Amino acid sequence: MNQEIKNIAVVGAGTMGNGIAHVAALFNGPVSLVDVNQSQLDCARETIIKNLDRQVKKEIIQTDDKEKTLKNLKFTTSLDDSLSSADLVIEAATEDLATKEKIFVELDKHSAQHTILATNTSSISITQLATVTQRPSQVIGMHFMNPVPVMKLVEIINGYATDSEVTKTIQILSEKLQKVPLVVNDYPGFVSNRILMPMINEAIYTLFEGVSGVREIDQIMQLGMAHPMGPLKLADFIGLDVCLSILKVLHDGCGNPKYAPCPLLVNMVAAQKLGVKSGGGFYDYKEGSKSETVSQQFA
Ligand code: NAD
Repeated sequence: MNQEIKNIAVVGAGTMGNGIAHVAALFNGPVSLVDVNQSQLDCARETIIKNLDRQVKKEIIQTDDKEKTLKNLKFTTSLDDSLSSADLVIEAATEDLATKEKIFVELDKHSAQHTILATNTSSISITQLATVTQRPSQVIGMHFMNPVPVMKLVEIINGYATDSEVTKTIQILSEKLQKVPLVVNDYPGFVSNRILMPMINEAIYTLFEGVSGVREIDQIMQLGMAHPMGPLKLADFIGLDVCLSILKVLHDGCGNPKYAPCPLLVNMVAAQKLGVKSGGGFYDYKEGSKSETVSQQFA
């Protein structure tokens, strides 16, 4: 029997956590958003209000929906309080195995027996996270895309031991959140990053080997393949450190040289050229503005 999900706890109130809490409170019911950092919770609240206002202005939702969403939301630094009533916990904390393992041990210890534990990880093995709990059949990946209120996909990842009823419950919930759930199995990079990251890496190799320039590579993919954004700009938005770390997961996990990160990417990360968040990557980003020009390095 599929489980009814009434109360949701979201752990981690950063970029993804606030978006997940937003859609869960808008379309499902009560949500506790938990973070170790009070200032992140304050920022998350501001971001959610701003995004709800934008949705009201665009007539995607009504003012009543905004009020209901805010009533459904609780912002807290106390994990224990939020877990006692949660039917589902969605972990969206920092992408670090040790951090996530520690959180999963706590979630397992303090949640009710029926509670499903989901993670929004982009690259960590669901199967490995499940092993630190006493309920591996109730652990699953729920990979939302950024920005969560806008992007339709939820990549649902079955760990080795995930129960098919748990998968069904998460599929039904994702549809309730107005998303399109697609189920995949737990192998490095899942489906999304297994296909996206080699494309980004190849674009970097194309630049590295002097086949063409930054603007040409991006515009060829944008205008020729109808991609909304070129691969180099997308890498800047994702963060070059994040791209490198996911490529390493693919390379180590699959043992295939085709996933080896391009030396230029390795060098840029070492030089702290991380993309938008550091002010520069393949493009230079002016502070407080979205306008960008090709980085001097590649001009
Ligand atoms: P972020 O750095 O914006 O936010 C992470 C939050 O986790 C921070 O607010 C931090 O204070 C909090 N945190 C750290 N340890 C915690 C703990 N023990 N308990 C509670 N909160 C804790 O990160 P993000 O970009 O939102 O990414 C979160 C997860 O989502 C990662 O696993 C990432 O791989 C995944 N993801 C990110 C994106 C993206 O585009 N940013 C897309 C898909 C998936």
